[in-house]
Amino acid sequence: MKKDAPLIELLREYGVSRRGFLKFCSITASLMALPPTMAPAIARALEQARRPSVIWLSFQECTGCTESLTRSHSPTVEGLILDVVSLDYHHTLQAASGTAAEEAREIAMKENWGKYLLVVDGSIPLGNPGFSTIAGIPNVEMLKEVAEGAAAIIAVGTCAAYGGLPHAAPNPTGAVPVAEIVKEKPVVNVPGCPPIPVVITGVLAHFLTFGRLPELDGLGRPLAFYGNSIHDRCYRRPFYERGQFAETFDDEGARKGWCLFRLGCKGPITRNACATTKWNNGTSFPIESGHGCLGCSEPDFWDMGGFYNAVSEPAMESGTAVAWGLAGGALAGAAAGLLNRRERKAARASHQRVTVDDLKREE
Ligand code: SF4
Ligand code: SF4
Repeated sequence: MKKDAPLIELLREYGVSRRGFLKFCSITASLMALPPTMAPAIARALEQARRPSVIWLSFQECTGCTESLTRSHSPTVEGLILDVVSLDYHHTLQAASGTAAEEAREIAMKENWGKYLLVVDGSIPLGNPGFSTIAGIPNVEMLKEVAEGAAAIIAVGTCAAYGGLPHAAPNPTGAVPVAEIVKEKPVVNVPGCPPIPVVITGVLAHFLTFGRLPELDGLGRPLAFYGNSIHDRCYRRPFYERGQFAETFDDEGARKGWCLFRLGCKGPITRNACATTKWNNGTSFPIESGHGCLGCSEPDFWDMGGFYNAVSEPAMESGTAVAWGLAGGALAGAAAGLLNRRERKAARASHQRVTVDDLKREE
């Protein structure tokens, strides 16, 4: 296969049926909140799309984002989207190592200057340049160097988007997200710990289709995938509205599938597509498996109090289901309004912050 062959040739080579491809385009249109009539336009654009060069840099991360991506239930078309891009440099997936790997990066940059996509997972330590290096080059230097020639940057995972776990208090490495370093290029955040595979490939599909990044919310996330909270689309929502909450993970309420809010579910303040796209080829998502949402696609989710503490307590007497239902309604209203940084800040302020001193006190 020629490096600049259009996608349609690649699809044929992989034996993807026309029907399967069109189905993928319909799902992508719906995920991107586009009308179904856009599916044929997406199909036409994707068929003729050329392989853009992608350089993938991994900094302070756990490789979970790459693991997530490689689980994008191949051999479906979203898996092929990755094959369509020319992944010229990726520490974990590339065969080359050492000097040859760095040469591959330099050649890809030179040949595709101004046109390649830069994907980053992991945060960047500023506390000491030596905390994390690749081929002896500090992360911050490599990021600046590669970002300079990129058409756009995709910060994959909560570490690259908002600092993630390395940024959690007390942030010993001085970890920062990509957007704090790169100011001159468009950066799209695809947070999640890890991010949903079809959301990663959906952003790539959008770039391939329209030649630009999708519309973003106030936190740099594609609105198409992060426009709703988990709570907005949660199938347990009717229980929440009726004030029916599981109190423990094995009580009658849990067995009946009641709302997990009191068990710490952060769905009302978390924007992500889990409740609609689900995981593992649409099989399930954490709430469906009986565990509350941890809020993994939101900034500072590690420091927002305990994972098993409810996000807020109702101001009124909480002894009745009605009180919880009313408080729940108020919280849902507040969650629906969390559209920009100012509101996020207010939400964060309403959470208890956990510090190292707190942990020591609990020992
Ligand atoms: S609080 Fe959590 S479990 Fe309950 S309805 Fe909202 S997202 Fe679903
Ligand atoms: S349900 Fe919540 S914590 Fe779980 S993956 Fe989705 S956004 Fe992250």
